[in-house]
Amino acid sequence: MAQEYLYPEFQVVRDLSRCTGCRACAAQCANGVHRYDADRGQMVSDETRCVNCHRCVAFCPERALKIVKDRQCFRENDNWSGDAIREIYRQAASGGVLLSSMGNAKEYPVYWDRLLINASQVTNPSIDPLREPMETKTFLGKKPDTLRRDAAGRLVPELPPQLELDTPILFSAMSYGSISYNAHESLARAAQALGTCYNTGEGGLHRDFYRYGANTIVQVASGRFGVHRDYLEAGAAIEIKIGQGAKPGIGGHLPGAKIVGDVSATRMIPEGSDAISPAPHHDIYSIEDLRQLVYSLKEVTRGEKPVIVKIAAVHNVAAIASGVARSGADIIAIDGFRGGTGAAPTRIRDNVGIPIELALAAVDQRLRDEGIRSSVSLIAGGSIRSSADALKAILLGADAVYIATAALLALGCHLCRSCHSGRCNWGIATQRPELVARLDPDEGAQRLVNLVTAWTHEIKEMMGGMGINSIEAARGNRMMLRGVGLNEIELGILGVKHAGQ
Ligand code: SF4
Ligand code: SF4
Repeated sequence: MAQEYLYPEFQVVRDLSRCTGCRACAAQCANGVHRYDADRGQMVSDETRCVNCHRCVAFCPERALKIVKDRQCFRENDNWSGDAIREIYRQAASGGVLLSSMGNAKEYPVYWDRLLINASQVTNPSIDPLREPMETKTFLGKKPDTLRRDAAGRLVPELPPQLELDTPILFSAMSYGSISYNAHESLARAAQALGTCYNTGEGGLHRDFYRYGANTIVQVASGRFGVHRDYLEAGAAIEIKIGQGAKPGIGGHLPGAKIVGDVSATRMIPEGSDAISPAPHHDIYSIEDLRQLVYSLKEVTRGEKPVIVKIAAVHNVAAIASGVARSGADIIAIDGFRGGTGAAPTRIRDNVGIPIELALAAVDQRLRDEGIRSSVSLIAGGSIRSSADALKAILLGADAVYIATAALLALGCHLCRSCHSGRCNWGIATQRPELVARLDPDEGAQRLVNLVTAWTHEIKEMMGGMGINSIEAARGNRMMLRGVGLNEIELGILGVKHAGQ
């Protein structure tokens, strides 16, 4: 490898008047940033190793540490950012594809921040969620177009299998292998306590977690890792992953270093082998092929489980979703281009796909126009950052939302974007036993329960403010949204009026 000509991105600022030399920072850092220098009689830092995960800062008992961005290294200008220069040096040295973790951080518009929610005044009074019932129960799956009654006039229930959730918030796919056992256990326990679901991702389901099956979505991806009959039977729903927002059009790659122990057994591949899932499913080249897989999965589970098809938000997403709805899928999950990932090629993550807000609105409208909206439910994902984003997604047409990065933040993630290194100091995106042990599943589950409970309360408050008392009544209710600073085309795709109209 050639010389990189790279300088540290971060400075470790240590207040030596406070530092007692306790070495807690050295013990907490799996990247080896801190060490005690006996000659100098003080702690020193190797800043080239720092990823700014803040683990040392959080655990320094004397509050002696600060990590700051080092900005003086390059002569940046409006065209050449420090990151652009750094990436060229890195590729000139390695000749390799750049890899990144977590979602697209480029300055594309965040439409959630250009949409505002309505509130009742005078007429159609608001509802106080503390005093009046407010329904957040959500059923995901096909809904019948007509109701049938028997001779006595009683309704004949003919509801296809549904995923019944107490809140319209689910945990999105994160595989065992890309995240740790304790992170998976936290998600599974939280999903059970909240009455929602978490998602295995493409890594199979560890035997220990079969007990959470009623709150588990089992994923079938192109690599088919860990897919077998028991696995399909174990979940409450089955998700076919066609695309992922962070890396549309390509497959996945979990390095062999992370395929150890139970991860390899769960995926049913040898230890140390790279887990490479191909870009396409090799048995799917048309909607008819997709239909075959949807019905194979339904058949093997006796038609008892709804099938989700997950697609990435790309240019012709509305037409794709229309085809998926006709394939027999019960639920479509759309993943926007800001969605997180354990590892993706940087160029693809930052330049491929479209924002979830536009994709969701386009899909919902297309399915309505074609008269098939009730044949599928929609889950929107790809950077839902708050309860307001979640409610805006529902008002744009989603039945529910997937969260992943927000869930990891609740578990302690500090968005250092180094998941692909396998040295997550917070015990989340790692398989190193000493790091995994840092994440206590009891505490992790409680933090996730707290987050989703708080968001659900906030959703109730915002719905009450609009005079709406159920998720069902909020879904696709775009009259409750107004745009700010958006042009006619954007407003047209989102199907909302401008603020003031
Ligand atoms: S944890 Fe804080 S007090 Fe302890 S050695 Fe590191 S900087 Fe000094
Ligand atoms: S999961 Fe861990 S490695 Fe990944 S961004 Fe969060 S703190 Fe960093």
